[in-house]
Amino acid sequence: MIRHRHTRIVATLGPASRGADRVLELARSGVDVFRLNFSHGAHQDHADALADVRLAESAIGRPLAALADLQGPKFRLGRFRDGGIAIAAGHALRLDLDTAPGDERRVELPHPEVFRILRPGVFVVLDDGKTRLVVRRSGPGFADCEVVAGERLSNNKGLAIPGVTIPVPALTDKDRADLDFALRIGVDWVALSFVQHPADMADLRRLVNGRAAILAKIEKPAGLANLEAILDASDGVMVARGDLGVELAPEEVPVAQKTIVRAARRRGIPVIIATQMLESMTTSPSPTRAEASDVANGVYEGADALMLSAETASGLWPREAVTIMDAIIRRVEADPSWPDLMRAEHGEDADEDVDALIAAATRAAQARSTACLVAYTNSGATARRVARERPIHPVLAITHETRVARALGLVWGLEPRVAEQPRDIEEMTDGAARMAADLGLAAPGARVLIVAGPPKGAPGAANLLRITHAPRSRGT
Ligand code: PGA
Ligand code: MN
Repeated sequence: MIRHRHTRIVATLGPASRGADRVLELARSGVDVFRLNFSHGAHQDHADALADVRLAESAIGRPLAALADLQGPKFRLGRFRDGGIAIAAGHALRLDLDTAPGDERRVELPHPEVFRILRPGVFVVLDDGKTRLVVRRSGPGFADCEVVAGERLSNNKGLAIPGVTIPVPALTDKDRADLDFALRIGVDWVALSFVQHPADMADLRRLVNGRAAILAKIEKPAGLANLEAILDASDGVMVARGDLGVELAPEEVPVAQKTIVRAARRRGIPVIIATQMLESMTTSPSPTRAEASDVANGVYEGADALMLSAETASGLWPREAVTIMDAIIRRVEADPSWPDLMRAEHGEDADEDVDALIAAATRAAQARSTACLVAYTNSGATARRVARERPIHPVLAITHETRVARALGLVWGLEPRVAEQPRDIEEMTDGAARMAADLGLAAPGARVLIVAGPPKGAPGAANLLRITHAPRSRGT
């Protein structure tokens, strides 16, 4: 199965998308990367979900990536006896340390360090801004609050105190346990929430130790302030608009999005735009006009991937959300003005010889009616460098490592495939041409342009450019 589009789709798995059949249906509808959200669900749920992703992968014959999303130092309320409560302005609610399920009068906030900050007059934001409280009275281990705005509060909603930095480690004990588990079941990407400093990613990289690629979620003002250094320490990045929108004014979020997308594209690392892309589809079978426009804008910006959260995890229309996102992406990518608009966001050319070689190759491909590009890649770096140039031709990324192929599923425009490592240049050239033909990426006799590094070279050190032709008949 070939995806006839360049922008990738990330979908979050949850109760609305559990089970092998549903996961396969989502993969068929267009999901490239499945997110396992460790803020919710038990370890066994994630292990089952990953097994379903691997089954779907073999059914569709195309690598699928699994991304474990670690909660990070996010403060959350506990659970309610009935799953949630109705609230209204003026409603009195106590936050405390009692682990008993909550009710209309009180609920657990299992973070002792936060109570030191909850003084009378402090505002508390819950559920990505849908609910706001003000503290009226407080003491050791409790805060009596009044609802300022909100209609309903349900289990485990996130809590933020805008403008206040609470000193906590980047990886909590829960994150370490979750990370251990995620690596044991074999995820391809690990994302860390609330990254504020490059050292947060360095800590994560040390713990991951090469077993997965690592991604920084930018959702705090400090993460934005240290963006460049954080990206230097990361393999990918997410514009986490949900929490970003809690900490920043609404008008700041689109600007932050553009800044992050541009910085990631300049480096050639994948960038995901996340949260509320088709939010209304959690309850409605069709999106709002503004949502369709938001998805389209992400494609015009040249983001690698767009993400669905509650839409596929807990919404009523998970498959429809993927189908509509897929349709919007394809429509924009068919707009003749899209390549130029998208390339206008391309950063200045990197000064390395390798980037110059790859830029030249993609330009040559455009000028000479090449059918497809092939990147032979060991670590994935050469393929990412080709994708950085945003060529409109399909890019077949061939690697001998399944792990690398899966991780590349997040990257703009790549068709990753696994094949044995060629022994010499002839075998590589023939193998590339045959695979391009077999996948229907190149018609018989059509030109195929190959970029490759030395078999045992440094990651991304592409030094070979070859032009060949797809075989005239199958298997020749
Ligand atoms: P979350 O991250 O869904 O884990 O909160 C994304 C966001 O904050 O936008
Ligand atoms: Mn978040």
